[in-house]
Amino acid sequence: MSTLKTAVITGGSRGIGKEIALRLAEKGNNIVFSYISNEEAAKKTLEEIESKGVKALAFKADVSSYEECQKLMETTVNQMGSIDILVNNAGIIKDNLIMRMKEEEFDDVIRVNLKGVFNCIKHVSKIMLKQRSGRIINISSIIGLIGNIGQINYAAAKAGLHGMTKSAAKELASRGITVNAIAPGFIESDMTSTLADKYKEAIIKAIPLGRIGKAKEVSELVCFLASEEASYITGQIICVDGGMAMGSI
Ligand code: NAP
Repeated sequence: MSTLKTAVITGGSRGIGKEIALRLAEKGNNIVFSYISNEEAAKKTLEEIESKGVKALAFKADVSSYEECQKLMETTVNQMGSIDILVNNAGIIKDNLIMRMKEEEFDDVIRVNLKGVFNCIKHVSKIMLKQRSGRIINISSIIGLIGNIGQINYAAAKAGLHGMTKSAAKELASRGITVNAIAPGFIESDMTSTLADKYKEAIIKAIPLGRIGKAKEVSELVCFLASEEASYITGQIICVDGGMAMGSI
């Protein structure tokens, strides 16, 4: 496999994606990250990445748009020369109990969290197949493995992502492309900061390691899966969850 040089991270302006972008930059990779609306966060993240001494680009693109994902990949190749690593991180939540969930809340989460990953894999695979190398890392969730009350949409999207990971891994393996998924548990980020304290306490009780995780603990695994050392790992769903998905008994 060739030396890894350019990484694309979807939803890299904030939270876990930002941490992944910064860590991959520290490893010497040029970085292109996408975001959807928060220009201020994107600008700040871009400056932080550039301060690591690599080339960087912030690209406004909705992952649920097939055309915008195509533009993201084409622009990256034009400006950076290749795409060696794709991290499908962008994701949203629209939680509600089944009885109250609106059709659009279900559809929006599937469109961003599942179809968005297909859009990016579809357009990047053309590039990676030609160069006969690549690393695709999908950021899933343990909710795709264990389910959760109020998250029927999110659980369905993330469980679907596990099937997508394995299918893509089988299909792309012969060309030196690995595809894996990381399933984080509860991680400190904007997505979890809105949770009520009472709910957070209940979650912590269900985590064998007794605490919420840090984005850095996810980004370290991304860096490993993106590295030459991980060349024999593909089609795997790896939990970074303090043991939560094992269950409490
Ligand atoms: P976050 O803090 O809410 O950040 C979401 C990022 O995705 C932002 O950069 C946002 O851009 C971008 N984004 C949202 N919708 C997008 C779209 N349609 N197209 C392109 N970019 C979009 O989220 P996070 O907590 O870091 O989560 C990141 C990933 O980890 C998600 O896939 C999530 O499901 C997964 N995960 C998170 C946790 C957790 O505890 N936090 C646990 C398990 C799994 P803007 O800045 O422009 O809004």
